[in-house]
Amino acid sequence: MSAQKKRASRTSSRAKPKARVKKKQAPKTARKKKAAPKRSVKKVAKKSVKKSLPLAKNRVTPKEPEFEPRKKSKKKNIASVRGMRDILMRDQRYWQWFLNVAKGITEQYGYSEIETPIVEDAQLFKRSIGDTTDLVQKEMYEFDDQSGDRIALRPEGTAGIVRAYVEHGMLNMPQPVKVYLAGPMFRYERPQSGRFRQFHQFNVEVLGSESPVMDAETILIAHTILKELGIETSIQVNSVGSPEARAEYNKVLKTYLKTHKSAAVKEALERYSKNLLRILDSKDPEIQSILEEAPQLIDYLDDDCRAHFVSVLEHLDELDLPYTLNPRIVRGLDYYNRTAFELWHGDTEETRQSALGGGGRYDGLVEKLGGRETPACGFALGIERIIAILRQEKTSPPKSDEPLVYLAQIGDNSKKRALKLFEQLRSQGIPIIGNLAKDGLRQQLEIANKKGAKFAVIVGQKEMIDGTVLIRDMESGIQETVVLENIEKELEKRLKKA
Ligand code: AMP
Repeated sequence: MSAQKKRASRTSSRAKPKARVKKKQAPKTARKKKAAPKRSVKKVAKKSVKKSLPLAKNRVTPKEPEFEPRKKSKKKNIASVRGMRDILMRDQRYWQWFLNVAKGITEQYGYSEIETPIVEDAQLFKRSIGDTTDLVQKEMYEFDDQSGDRIALRPEGTAGIVRAYVEHGMLNMPQPVKVYLAGPMFRYERPQSGRFRQFHQFNVEVLGSESPVMDAETILIAHTILKELGIETSIQVNSVGSPEARAEYNKVLKTYLKTHKSAAVKEALERYSKNLLRILDSKDPEIQSILEEAPQLIDYLDDDCRAHFVSVLEHLDELDLPYTLNPRIVRGLDYYNRTAFELWHGDTEETRQSALGGGGRYDGLVEKLGGRETPACGFALGIERIIAILRQEKTSPPKSDEPLVYLAQIGDNSKKRALKLFEQLRSQGIPIIGNLAKDGLRQQLEIANKKGAKFAVIVGQKEMIDGTVLIRDMESGIQETVVLENIEKELEKRLKKA
């Protein structure tokens, strides 16, 4: 199907106003105040005398001296910083699941992991993302460190990766260099559902290739990661062309907007005066409806950019990927050119507000950061938003199909033997799991079941004396006594059959 045919159906759905989030009330700690330990009058008197505090009759607690009035003790607990969240133990299985899937697929396509520092020279982001973007002007955590250097917490991952590419001479490696990065990003945004001040992204970047097949590959990888997790997404794709095409389009768009003499347009023209293209991203319903009839950037692409875009779309067609041409996908950052895309869970304007990921081409960035001319493209997925959908849709991470063995013990004496046995089996490569902090057998077997263990090794009091242990088949419940020395062999035999 041609690009023209697939031109985005201009949606008239209005953007939902941002949901207001109720201020989360810190859970009241309902802990009762501990009663003061009873102290003998004698002891108190002795202490009080030592401190020369006056002692009232029949009082065990010494009275505070008058010159030091007791302040009401308001023990205010320190909470996490607004917009920053803990990733608790119960969340970890989702995180591991996401990372395993994302890294697994990306590595299959020949990408290697890279890590860059969270803290970078603030100039890096100003130069790459753009000095006038909201991301840099309003949302970046930026400050002077103790030596007066202006630094910033990374608001996105691409700039750091490109800096590393230039700094470590990756320009001289076989091209393209394909990397992925998973880690926290920081943006001082208004926290709300699916929007945090510390959040995590999974970035995939290809540096050193202009080929449209790389654009298609990155789109495919992003889509496949989500599909593998059971999340259906629509790919919203556009081309933002070259800087020259954008400059020309800016003029045309401005002329068009000026024909609408509304206050909203006047305000938007002022607000986006430094980069009018960002108006296409506006959430104002009036602007959105005016934009429906606006000329489209895609009609102003030069021949090279147009041919590149058509080729990207042909690859997507070949892959049967569900994409929509969306002229309003312009991405907020200065470094993008040509392909720009986002992944939405659904196909409406509402889902636009909570895109699961986005990316595109940034052919000029390496050069802007001091390297030689190097075409590049990539994307970032928002991990929190993806996990929120997995939870909403009650999709659970798959259980490991490795036949695990759970080590359970009964009584303090057995713990000693169990600890030694655990390490012995672990070091021999038996897939042993357990928790020596647990006591009751029933509780331990429940955990074994939950973890999907095939067998449990039980070290009980009687077995301790006999020099044996029990092997329990978790499915049938059948238990067999085996001599402690043979445990490894016995387990290996059973695991082979499992
Ligand atoms: P962006 O670089 O802004 O396109 O972000 C890429 C993806 O990161 C988005 O599609 C979101 O899934 C996620 N993301 C961006 N900002 C936030 C945020 N403040 N909180 C949570 N996730 C975010």
